Amino acid sequence: MKNFDFRSDTVTHPTPDMRAAMANAEVGDDVYGDDPTVNALERSAADRLGKEAALFVPSGTFGNQLALLTHTGRGDEVILGDGCHILMHEVGASSVIAGVQLRVLPAFAGQMKLEAVEKAIRGQDIHYPKTGLIAMENAHSCGRVLPLEYMEALYGLARSYGVPVHLDGARLFNAAAALGVEAKALAAQTDSVMLCLSKGLCAPVGSLLLGRQGFIDRARKNRKLMGGGMRQAGILAAAGQLALDEMTCRLETDHKRARYLAECLKDIPGVDVIEEALDINMVFCKMTLSESDDVVCKALLEKGIKINGAEDGLYRFVTHYWTDEAAIQGLVAAIRPYVTTV
Ligand SMILES: *Cc1c(COP(=O)(O)O)cnc(C)c1O
Repeated sequence: MKNFDFRSDTVTHPTPDMRAAMANAEVGDDVYGDDPTVNALERSAADRLGKEAALFVPSGTFGNQLALLTHTGRGDEVILGDGCHILMHEVGASSVIAGVQLRVLPAFAGQMKLEAVEKAIRGQDIHYPKTGLIAMENAHSCGRVLPLEYMEALYGLARSYGVPVHLDGARLFNAAAALGVEAKALAAQTDSVMLCLSKGLCAPVGSLLLGRQGFIDRARKNRKLMGGGMRQAGILAAAGQLALDEMTCRLETDHKRARYLAECLKDIPGVDVIEEALDINMVFCKMTLSESDDVVCKALLEKGIKINGAEDGLYRFVTHYWTDEAAIQGLVAAIRPYVTTV
């Protein structure tokens, strides 16, 4: 059965090669450090990103929250931008797990103003919490990419105050592809970085947290505390290795498909594509439909096409490994009859 799923790049099933690698993976008990497939994945990810060490974790949320827990102490303040995943989509975990306070600054296209960040870094007054961390997100889930120069400037600022920086790089390789740089160049502008293997990279499960050796050693212990010590995790890491080695090299195709989808949507009178937010594999648009989102989503589902309803007035379509041009044409043809121009 054909199933064209534009809801997210998290819906990507493992490729046949991944399933074969999983079936044949050599495994051990990773809590003992004995799983050769996990160890190889962690080593090669660290080398690829120019970090000293890496740690395989169950999810992106887990990796971000583990980074917060490992960088900060209870009651510390974490500076981050509004709209970011750690703030909006991690169930308030920062206050539950790390026990930190979030200092939220306005973000424009995913970027906090540097002057605002500098002003938000706390001084020595006895009343103040300690500024424990600054977090960035790149690619940002608003569809934008932060330029390398911005990351350099923010990291330079943070270092001048002795504050560590974490990068939520769930789509780090999308950002690198969009910017035309190595992912290593982006990772160099942070103390720690989390990346997801299970988004557009097709691995079924898993993310990585990377940083200095001492940080990752502490994170490994904290991962156990959080219940993320996994046993024969090489089964998962085997797919993650292919995600890292092969799938990271084809993301420009997804980005091209997103631009193609945007062009097709623009041909429909009444669809307003947000052109500035077309940096990666996401297309955001405004449109008025003749039926409710529920009705339209259900009608499309009957044709084997999955989409989400609008969020804050915006529809989001995500391209990935399993959505080719034919799928895009199918999506556009299926939506067209519902778009109104009033
Ligand atoms: C998806 C995502 C995460 C979390 O990943 P999960 O594996 O879904 O927990 C974190 N940050 C960003 C920017 C994301 O898009």
